[in-house]
Amino acid sequence: MTTETIRHAFTSAAELLAVVQPAEGGRDISDPATGALVGRVAEPGVVELDAAVAAARAAQPDWASRGHDERRELLNRAADAVETNAEALAELLSREQGKPLNGPNARFEVGACAAWLRATASFELEPEVLTGDDGLRAELHYKPLGVVGAIGPWNWPMMISVWQLAPALRMGNTVVMKPSEYTPLSVLALAEVLNTVFPADVLQVVPGGREVGERLAAHPDIAKVMFTGSTATGKAIIRSSADTVKRLTLELGGNDAGIVLPDADPQAIAEDLFWGAFINTGQTCAALKRLYVHQDIYDDVCQALTAVAANMPMGVGLDENNVLGPLQNKAQFDIVARLVQAAKDSGARILTGGDPDPDQPGYFYPATLVADIDNDNPLVAEEQFGPALPIVKYATVDEVVQMANGLDVGLGASVWSSDLARAREVAARIEAGTVWINKHGAVDPRVPFGGAKQSGYGLEFGVEGLKHLGAPQVING
Ligand code: NAD
Repeated sequence: MTTETIRHAFTSAAELLAVVQPAEGGRDISDPATGALVGRVAEPGVVELDAAVAAARAAQPDWASRGHDERRELLNRAADAVETNAEALAELLSREQGKPLNGPNARFEVGACAAWLRATASFELEPEVLTGDDGLRAELHYKPLGVVGAIGPWNWPMMISVWQLAPALRMGNTVVMKPSEYTPLSVLALAEVLNTVFPADVLQVVPGGREVGERLAAHPDIAKVMFTGSTATGKAIIRSSADTVKRLTLELGGNDAGIVLPDADPQAIAEDLFWGAFINTGQTCAALKRLYVHQDIYDDVCQALTAVAANMPMGVGLDENNVLGPLQNKAQFDIVARLVQAAKDSGARILTGGDPDPDQPGYFYPATLVADIDNDNPLVAEEQFGPALPIVKYATVDEVVQMANGLDVGLGASVWSSDLARAREVAARIEAGTVWINKHGAVDPRVPFGGAKQSGYGLEFGVEGLKHLGAPQVING
């Protein structure tokens, strides 16, 4: 760790806020758990975005000329800076996003930022010799693209920003980020910490609304857009970026199926099933969103899951006891409430939850498990993106594979079984970018991740992720 990094240590969220907030004015950001004011965010528009892109463009040749070794060193120092400031970052993230400090939540997310920065520094990407034996030499190189635009969501605002910026910077690109209007302070604070290490204008954040995102996607000086968010917005970005033929990586919505085979042990898998679905209170792209359980063990799995859910404290994120938090915003709360209501109206059975307390401040929706529900119910067919899991009964593998593949999205999926070979056979039949076995949503910086069907295209993480942030060039001769 460098003395420079230590000098920039922030001891609290308040100190971080003091540097990322405008001196006066700006838009209020409220804590989704309490409604209390977290801070204010300046709201630049397309003029400020254009200025940021121009500065990023001017900074890019020098950044590219530093070479991989220096950029690796700076990514590692950026990871040091995140670790030095971890508690202040986690506190601000918890207050703005709502996720608790503990459990797989705010501290976990900040730790993942450091881990992904280090892993991205470590990958080797050498030019590939394609031919050569016959005297005709062709090599495949990956050059910088230029300026990369990164547009992110509100559910994992810091971690997803790092997923976008780390490989982009490593490959010699400069980056302009447009965070979600719901969680801009978290991304501004993260960038403040990272920019204690990076040269000026290499990494910039322009908060703002949809018009800033649209301009970024259409901007002639943006070479590539990394986008994580909903499928609807992904389609809008494809359209906005068409005239400039931009490169795109699209990590879009999902509605991941989990399939429990009849030989699984309900007690043994219950806790992992729970966290597969309820990580970040269900607000996770690759969370388990539809659980299919074989009829022979259906009641046992329902009982085991209900017992786990009963022991998971939900509440204000800064309370160290809590591991589940509120929905991040009212619109998402309303989606979850509407879908659970649709399930109730259809006669499905609520095993636990389903009844938010109208007098409780904040957007808290209790962890909800819904049994005896049809596959075409809206809670199954639509992405709930919140703490409500439908559990569908099935009889045969053919039937469940058809149900799992029946939607137009395919981000992740999982198969749960005591027989690994059997689980792999079923996994191979699922249309999804990743199929986990006896776990769900476990991402790893070394392992490529991306969606099938309308869950997007392009890969993140690992060497494959680096290649997606480079311009491939063949030197032939
Ligand atoms: P969203 O699509 O509403 O917003 C994402 C970002 O896009 C925001 O910064 C927003 O301001 C911006 N935006 C909105 N309209 C735009 C436009 N026309 N042009 C350019 N930018 C625009 O998504 P969200 O509600 O923040 O996130 C939730 C969704 O994201 C869920 O569907 C979830 O599954 C998905 N998600 C996917 C992944 C993944 O890796 N595949 C990860 C996290 C979230």
